[in-house]
Amino acid sequence: MFRFWYKKTFHKSGELNPPWEAAMENNKVRQHSFTVSPEEYRSAVKTLVEWVQTDSFPKEIAELAKGRIVKKAKIARLSPCLINGTICLKSRILQANKVPAEQKTPEILLSDHHLTELLIQAEHERCAHQGSETLQNNLSGRFWIINGRQTVLRTIRKSPWCRLSRVSPVIPEMGQLPHYRLAAYQRPFTFTGLDTFGPFTVTVGRRHEKRWVIIFTCLVTRAIHLEVVHALSTDEFMMGLSQFIDTRGTPDTIYSDNGTNFVGASKELKFESLGVV
Ligand SMILES: [Zn+2]
Repeated sequence: MFRFWYKKTFHKSGELNPPWEAAMENNKVRQHSFTVSPEEYRSAVKTLVEWVQTDSFPKEIAELAKGRIVKKAKIARLSPCLINGTICLKSRILQANKVPAEQKTPEILLSDHHLTELLIQAEHERCAHQGSETLQNNLSGRFWIINGRQTVLRTIRKSPWCRLSRVSPVIPEMGQLPHYRLAAYQRPFTFTGLDTFGPFTVTVGRRHEKRWVIIFTCLVTRAIHLEVVHALSTDEFMMGLSQFIDTRGTPDTIYSDNGTNFVGASKELKFESLGVV
């Protein structure tokens, strides 16, 4: 992407190749190496910043190179100065001992330049997609981006990762309740759901045995009825169901899952007024 921008900006005729291609020709071994040393990285960034400034501030660089003070320009109020070929902001902390030199005189960049956006994007990814304040603070250690806050916010808004992390889930519309959940003026447990849970260990004399619990729930009032059974067999379930019917009355319809004991019981039940679904 940058190669395209460089040729479009600096070498429209195409007769000149970018400087890095000549450097790669001179070093065939490094041409096939993907390892970049810190010195090479810093040098590359410096070269890129020089190109951006040449593109953005050609008149200002010429004025500063002649030792003149830039007065009528975007960067005039930033007290610009030329250091090693790049325009830097002359801050008020030049006397600070512990502050790095690049932080004392950050390089000035235009916010709407493509490479500036790429630099912000790279720093945003390097600092693990943190917020705008962190990103701006990290960038200010080396660059002074004019109207940088808006560009930083725009970069974060464009970041696919940040967009995904900010998106709120769409809560699906709740479905309609079935008719047996809405049956009004009916005796409790007219429509009953059932399931089994357990086992629980109980002590009988000096031995331990397992017990299961059948839970009957009224589908309208959500009332529950519990019956303890000795096993998960059809016979035990039939005994629990009989106890339930004796206590709560015969339900109109019973809803359950396809548990083996429930399926077996549904085959045995021959009551005319009772259907098991
Ligand atoms: Zn991000």
